[in-house]
Amino acid sequence: MHCPFCKNKETKVVDSRLVDHGSQVKRRRQCMKCDGRFTTFESAELFLPFILKRNGNREQFQIEKLKKGVLRSLEKRPVSTDVIEGMLADISFELRVKGEREIDSKFLGILVMDALKKIDHVAYIRFASVYLSFEDIGEFITEINKLKSH
Ligand SMILES: [Zn+2]
Repeated sequence: MHCPFCKNKETKVVDSRLVDHGSQVKRRRQCMKCDGRFTTFESAELFLPFILKRNGNREQFQIEKLKKGVLRSLEKRPVSTDVIEGMLADISFELRVKGEREIDSKFLGILVMDALKKIDHVAYIRFASVYLSFEDIGEFITEINKLKSH
């Protein structure tokens, strides 16, 4: 890239290191003409997919929206913010590595349910009852029994 000071095209890399847990390369560059130094960051461009909703609409995946739903299920539960943030980071990581442009909202719901099941059973049941919209108490009990048998 051009030198940001004098627009000269020739620059050299004087230092290069991994940052942000290895997901970025930070390079220190020096202009061959004016000796001006500047820093560049390089990272892979990974997009979060669109979520295909049950009603056929598409919307951009929003971590904040997901967080709201998850926090609602975890209300008054003894789960730390760190654990919740970690869970949300894992889910968005999983969506990224899938590398698809579009993901069914069902798939996302299952990811969340699986994650909650490991963290807090009450939150899991809360989330599942909204998400799966249990038709009757029978389905609800079946789900509870599944948890018990694990
Ligand atoms: Zn320059």
